[in-house]
Amino acid sequence: MKWPFSFSAIFSRKPAGPLSLTQCPDCGREMIFVEKFTMTGDDLRTYRCQRCRKEHIVNFGTAMWKVLSDANKSEDDAS
Ligand SMILES: [Zn+2]
Repeated sequence: MKWPFSFSAIFSRKPAGPLSLTQCPDCGREMIFVEKFTMTGDDLRTYRCQRCRKEHIVNFGTAMWKVLSDANKSEDDAS
């Protein structure tokens, strides 16, 4: 079986650097979660920075349903 390269990274995701994904790239403040959409296969989330009054779309990588769907495709024989 062949897992997508990013598969293990999803479960072990931790803040890697000083700036987390949910912090504003402009001012570094923690942003407020607005909404999530995964229709494209990517785990995209909208966060709003109250200070900048701007919304930022954060890409958390491949959406979970896409990972599972891809895994199922490559595992059609083994059930
Ligand atoms: Zn900001």
